[in-house]
Amino acid sequence: MATDCLFREDSYLQECDARVVAITGQGGIVLDRTVFYATSGGQPGDTGMLTASSGASIPIATAVYTDQAKTEIAHVPATGSPSVNVGDAVTAKIDWEKRYARMRMHTALHLLSAVLPYAVTGGSVGETESRLDFDIPEAGLDKDEITAKVMEMIAADAAVTGRWISDAELEDSPGLVKTMSVKPPMGTGRVRLIEVANLDLQPCGGTHVRSTGEIGAVRVTQIEKKGKQNRRVRLAFA
Ligand SMILES: [Zn+2]
Repeated sequence: MATDCLFREDSYLQECDARVVAITGQGGIVLDRTVFYATSGGQPGDTGMLTASSGASIPIATAVYTDQAKTEIAHVPATGSPSVNVGDAVTAKIDWEKRYARMRMHTALHLLSAVLPYAVTGGSVGETESRLDFDIPEAGLDKDEITAKVMEMIAADAAVTGRWISDAELEDSPGLVKTMSVKPPMGTGRVRLIEVANLDLQPCGGTHVRSTGEIGAVRVTQIEKKGKQNRRVRLAFA
């Protein structure tokens, strides 16, 4: 059963009421709706707590999608947690400090990809450090130069907004695809676009802050050569 993913519409939601609709074979708890971001796109699933109406607390170690299409989320309880049953009412609450740090980091990676307009081949979002892998044929990247450009975008406090667009609308506006830094996936019916005003536009299912000013100070800490055509750029909170 598809989970109503509340974090997609409002990444600032820290908790919600929900109902247990299934328990997976591995013991994952499926809710009808959730604020837990599930592991994808290099960002780990949220940790947090489910509190049953009986008062039982179930610490959640991570959240994962149960299907390829990413429609259903299972909340993975920490080992030894009390059990819940299908039909139980629960309150789902995420570890906000950790998630907010990831939101700031993830948004910073959008800026990094705008500063380095090359194909991204991989990435990872952490609470203190993140990275993107770029398909760049030659070296010559300067850490301080990239840091200065990203910090300029953060200082601009640009608005970050999301909107859904249908495949049909996308086909009707080839200009839009042209301005995107990443080609959108087609065939799922609709695509979520994230726009950093005047700086970046790309399809993305992650969680973002409302404006770049919220990111705070960051710096490029390392640029590694990972193969002939690959540079790994690491970014950390300064
Ligand atoms: Zn994103």
